[in-house]
Amino acid sequence: GPGRDNSVDLPSHDDRWPRQNSLSMKEWDIPYDELKLYEVIGAGRFGTVYRGSWHGAVAVKVLHVHALNDHCAPLDTFKHEVATFRKTRHENLVLFMGACMKPPRLAIVTSLCKGMTLYTHIHLRKDKFTANKSVLVAQQISQGMGYLHARGIIHKDLKTKNIFLENGKVVITDFGLFSVTKLCFGNNARGDSLGIPSGWLCYLAPELVRALRPHASLHLPFSKQTDVYAFGTVWYELLCGEYPFKGQPAEAIIWQVGKGAKQSLANMQASRDIKDILMLCWSYRESERPDFSHLLSTLEKLPRKRLARSPSHPVHLSRSADS
Ligand code: ATP
Repeated sequence: GPGRDNSVDLPSHDDRWPRQNSLSMKEWDIPYDELKLYEVIGAGRFGTVYRGSWHGAVAVKVLHVHALNDHCAPLDTFKHEVATFRKTRHENLVLFMGACMKPPRLAIVTSLCKGMTLYTHIHLRKDKFTANKSVLVAQQISQGMGYLHARGIIHKDLKTKNIFLENGKVVITDFGLFSVTKLCFGNNARGDSLGIPSGWLCYLAPELVRALRPHASLHLPFSKQTDVYAFGTVWYELLCGEYPFKGQPAEAIIWQVGKGAKQSLANMQASRDIKDILMLCWSYRESERPDFSHLLSTLEKLPRKRLARSPSHPVHLSRSADS
C-alpha cells in the first residue's frame, strides 16, 4: 500500500514492482555499526556466525570477503540471494532481518535460534527420536521446504546441521545462500581435493554426485528434487541416528550413489510406509522423487498408533529429544 516504502505511487497493477528494486532493498540494509557482536557461535566454511544484538537477540553471519575474487560470485549475487531470502515468511524458516551489504562488511542478520540443531541431537547427544516424533519433525520440515519451493527458492544445503529444534518446533536455516556463501568464500578452506566437506556428501543426489569436479561446485545442478533427496537423508538420520554410508570413504560413496546404489535398509526396523518414503526421496531418477506437498500428505497419513508400538522405537526413553 502507499507509504510502505520509499517508492513513488504507481498504478495498482504495478504495485508489486517497486519493492523489488534497489530502492526498497535499502529497507533491509543494516548499517554494520548498528550491530553488536558478542561471542562466536560457530565458524562455517564461508565465514563466522556471532551471537549479536540488533533490536534484540540475533545471529550474524559475517562473510569472509577477503576471498572475494574473480572466481567468486560478485557482490550482485550476494544481493540477489539476499533479495530472495527477504521474501520468506514462514513458521518453520529462520527469520531474515536484514543484511550489511557494503564491502568489505558483508553480513546476514537473522533471528537467533534457540534450542539445538537436529545434528546436535542426533549425532552429538545421541538423542533417540521415536517414530512419532520423527514424523512430527519431518512434517514441519516438509512444510517449510514446501513453502520455499512454492516461492521458487531451492535450499541447496538442507542438512541436520541447518535444522533447529526449538521446543518441538522446527526452524530451517541457511537456505538459498549456497552459491555465494558456500562456494565463493571458502571452497578451498577445508575438505578434500574435490572440495567435499565431511558430512556433505550423503545429502547429494546422484545427479549432483556425478557432476562433482574439483573446484567447480558452482555449477552443480541443484533443483527442488535435489532438496528432496537431501530430505531423505535427514529422514534416515532421524530414524536411524546415523548418516547413511556411515564410515565409508568419500570415493566409495561417490561410486555407489553415482551408479544408483542406496544405503541398505535391511537392518532398519521401521514400517514399510516409512521405508517407502526414504526410497522415494532417494530415487535415482529425479522425476520419481515426490515433492514436499506430496511428502507432507504421506507423512500425515502414517498410522500413528502402529508407529507408537513399533518395537524398534521404545516409548520410554532415558532422554527426551527436546528437553
Ligand atoms: P557449513 O559451513 O558446512 O554450512 P555450518 O552449517 O556448521 O557449516 P554455519 O551455517 O556457518 O556453518 O553455522 C555455524 C554455526 O552457527 C552452527 O553451529 C550453527 O548451528 C550456528 N547458527 C547458524 N545460524 C544460527 C541462528 N540463526 N541461530 C543460532 N545459531 C545459528
